[in-house]
Amino acid sequence: MTKVPFFRPDITDVEISAVSNALREGWLTTGEKARSFEDHFAEKVGSKRALALNSCTSALHLALKVLEVGPGDEVLVPAIGFASSAEVVVHLGAKPVFIDVAKEDHTVDPDVIVSAITPRTRSIIVVDFAGQPAKLNAILDIAHSHNIKVVEDAAHALPAKYHDSFVGSISDITCFSFYSTKTMTTAEGGMATTNSDEWAEGMRLMSLHGISKPAWLREKSKRPWHYDIKTLGWKCNMPDLAAALGLAQLSRLDAMTDQRRAIAKLYLQAFQEQDYFECLLERPECEHAWHLFVMKLRPGVLRIERDQFLQEMNEHGVSTSVHFIPLHMHTYYREKYGYQPEDCPVSLSVYQNSFSLPIYSAMTIEEAERVISVVMEIGQKYRR
Ligand SMILES: *Cc1c(COP(=O)(O)O)cnc(C)c1O
Repeated sequence: MTKVPFFRPDITDVEISAVSNALREGWLTTGEKARSFEDHFAEKVGSKRALALNSCTSALHLALKVLEVGPGDEVLVPAIGFASSAEVVVHLGAKPVFIDVAKEDHTVDPDVIVSAITPRTRSIIVVDFAGQPAKLNAILDIAHSHNIKVVEDAAHALPAKYHDSFVGSISDITCFSFYSTKTMTTAEGGMATTNSDEWAEGMRLMSLHGISKPAWLREKSKRPWHYDIKTLGWKCNMPDLAAALGLAQLSRLDAMTDQRRAIAKLYLQAFQEQDYFECLLERPECEHAWHLFVMKLRPGVLRIERDQFLQEMNEHGVSTSVHFIPLHMHTYYREKYGYQPEDCPVSLSVYQNSFSLPIYSAMTIEEAERVISVVMEIGQKYRR
């Protein structure tokens, strides 16, 4: 029995020759390829500016920093999210205030945001869970009327659309991930997009030690050794080697997206009608990127709980995952801020009942059909 892994990277000769060429050309670190990747990416998502970085985590960090989040501030963070969205807030000396998600789509509801805003709230991080955009118009309206900025964690949402606009062109700053398992990859990498030149320049400066002119631009100047440190920075630039991989993946992004959509469609057809599973709501104003396919066990319908269900899946050769263990339930945040699991009750129940099936562009339709038959077999075996 062949196994269906939870993920397999989608690397073709296009990527291999792009990276080989970059190696032969000899400029390995940040240079013209990174710039070109930024330009093509900005064009793809319709944003004015794009800044290539070494991770989405760095993009979130620089975004909050350029928005002047600092000590004494609060940042609203969805409890169903990854470590990055919370840790960058703490690193800037601010407090992450965890907010609950909606059970229909696991993104945050605007009215939850309204009730969590205090005079200290400086920014809101929204997560486009699984690849479906959050309710961005309402969230941006609320935030801007309180003079709060919205940083979108779009690590799952490339390419995704909301009311005909691509994610990346909508929020104040949007952060993407090119981590190996995301919808496209640079092995490790990230991108921040914005329509503000000021924020884009500020983030660029901080991404390379606050140095006025990076090496690849100095090389062509009269005094290539000269630079000035304008502000306190970090080191999170994207090397050209990674950007070469990114450019190749970007050229195949639409084709890769089509394959994930085809798999999502098969899954939805098979699972939507079953009474033991609940699929997440696909909102009509959104075009989903299908980075993840998340489902929930309806409590009480099966004789087994989620963990045993996933163990059986594994025994039948299908790898699965859970997205996510809620941030407010992790030791660090419990001990530092005193959070209790019940503080975000929907996130707690999402965590207890949900699971993610394999979905990726290198996956075949036959593999997807195998996943479906294994899910159905276990479902029927344990039905009450
Ligand atoms: C993967 C992921 C990140 C982190 O991306 P990196 O590029 O690894 O820093 C952030 N947020 C979410 C929701 C993610 O899934």
